Amino acid sequence: MDHDNIRVAVCGAAGRMGREVIRAVMEADGMHLVAAVDRHEIGADVGELAQDGKLNIRIESDLHAVLERSEPHVLVDFTVPDAVMLNARTALTHGVSPVIGTTGLSAKDLKEIDRKANEKGIGAFVAPNFAIGAVLMMQFAAQAARYLPDVEIIELHHEKKLDSPSGTALLTAQKIAEARREAQIVPQPQPSGLIEKAKGARGARGAETGDIPIHSVRLPGFVAHQEVIFGGPGQILTLRHDSTDRRSFMPGVILAIRKVRSLNGLVVGLENLL
Ligand code: NAD
Repeated sequence: MDHDNIRVAVCGAAGRMGREVIRAVMEADGMHLVAAVDRHEIGADVGELAQDGKLNIRIESDLHAVLERSEPHVLVDFTVPDAVMLNARTALTHGVSPVIGTTGLSAKDLKEIDRKANEKGIGAFVAPNFAIGAVLMMQFAAQAARYLPDVEIIELHHEKKLDSPSGTALLTAQKIAEARREAQIVPQPQPSGLIEKAKGARGARGAETGDIPIHSVRLPGFVAHQEVIFGGPGQILTLRHDSTDRRSFMPGVILAIRKVRSLNGLVVGLENLL
């Protein structure tokens, strides 16, 4: 397999993450950009959009046609929850390995991606968070949960984020729940007679959050931030990660582009590539 000349297409290229990915791919060794897809800014030069000078690669809207013509090895997707599954199916049908950062995929979606990737004999990769600091935060949280079972998560993102809770918060909660199960730890039951004067005041809590409350904040000024707060008698442990710039995600995205073609089927989570 030629690892030195990876042909990369970017879907969602006109978005906040897409523009950053364009810059990162242009700067990375051993890969080059062959196409860019978006619903907006059609016809615009992606180099100019990413403020990196003219590249003579224009934004196009028809993913199927783009994959046929430009024959990428890898499709990076940072679009919207509504579009990502269709894009992933289109990529896999063309034998193109998807690297997906778009959040909002369900367990059923992930199963389908894995099945289709296996059918094609190619790799696929999904990460709810490409920042190494966030991956470490999740690992530390799972470690702490073995000793401090009572925990809540607060995630804070920019006001334009469509899905909540964030994929990172859900994955953190699942990892904590798994660590608790392994250590046979049972958290304190909720006191009876709770009064929630405003619905949702105590956060979202259910099977998908491993019964751990998650609180989502959406405000201008934030990029992507999360606190995992563990409480015990007489002590509080707070783990906090802040992505203050979208550049924080790029080393993870570039690593995934380099590694995805050597995977078999779907791999989820950056920790599995490190
Ligand atoms: P954004 O709104 O700035 O960009 C999304 C882009 O996708 C837009 O330009 C939009 O026009 C385009 N788009 C929508 N539907 C499309 C389609 N069918 N085909 C092609 N393009 C389409 O959003 P963003 O801030 O760049 O975030 C994108 C996604 O990435 C979100 O789901 C966000 O939660 C996720 N995200 C993930 C990570 C991570 O580390 N995994 C980090 C940051 C953001």
